Amino acid sequence: MSDITLNAPKLFDLGGNVALVTGAGSGIGQRIAIGLAQCGADVALLDRRTDAGLSDTARMIEQAGRRSIQIAADVTQSAALTEAVERCQMELGPLTLAVNAAGIANANPAEEMEESQFQTMMDINLKGVFLSCQAEARAMLKNGRGSIVNIASMSGVIVNRGLNQCHYNASKAGVIHMSKSMAMEWVGRGIRVNTISPGYTATPMNTRAEMVHQTKLFEEQTPMQRMASVNEMVGPAVFLLSDAASFVTGVDLLVDGGFCCW
Ligand code: NAP
Repeated sequence: MSDITLNAPKLFDLGGNVALVTGAGSGIGQRIAIGLAQCGADVALLDRRTDAGLSDTARMIEQAGRRSIQIAADVTQSAALTEAVERCQMELGPLTLAVNAAGIANANPAEEMEESQFQTMMDINLKGVFLSCQAEARAMLKNGRGSIVNIASMSGVIVNRGLNQCHYNASKAGVIHMSKSMAMEWVGRGIRVNTISPGYTATPMNTRAEMVHQTKLFEEQTPMQRMASVNEMVGPAVFLLSDAASFVTGVDLLVDGGFCCW
């Protein structure tokens, strides 16, 4: 008979861990940061603006009985990320978990897109994830263990019908493959790297001007006939970060209400 001493619910317990979450002031990053605290982690909250929702996130983490710190930093700046990790470790303890959710979205037909619009997308959505992982992994490699989840998108797998966002789609495809590559670089050294690829999710990102009329279409196009709530990103993130996923690395977990099946 196999070993049944394993305490299955304990596998999802993040107690004793310190997490860094980028994009923690809004949307998916904010909800995941609170979810990690609810599962026992202390959390460093990073976003580019101090007036983003960071203090709301911190308040909810306090209500969950965990500690947090707020860091205003731009994920395109390597030095700022190094400093953020240092502060996180000094004030909360050794970094062992990270979720990189900071990102932007916009649209423009490819033939009209300025080079600068393409470049900014790559700088934040792809280079920003690279620099975040680099800063986090440098600490985790020293700490002997770590688990990183990067928030990609189903747009890294499919092309969203009716949305002219080749730069966004390319950045997310890049995040998925870059994450697999980093997972393999660190596979023997205690660090797992996975991605979550959300489908259409109700966040401030989707309330930008050119998206509002699209919401109904998003719901219709999704097999589950609705958009995801940010709450629905918490379980997948906790799973991938936790010991429940101890043999899972280099995976892209689609959380898309079935979108990519059709
Ligand atoms: P959101 O509510 O706009 O949250 C993203 C956060 O990241 C914002 O607070 C944003 O600040 C911050 N950010 C942007 N650029 C940054 C930078 N350079 N440095 C630090 N922080 C920065 O968006 P969301 O919908 O939660 O998106 C989170 C992630 O999920 C993104 O990577 C997005 O691509 C991905 N995603 C979203 C959906 C969806 O349907 N919502 C679907 C698939 C994937 P500002 O407000 O100042 O920009």
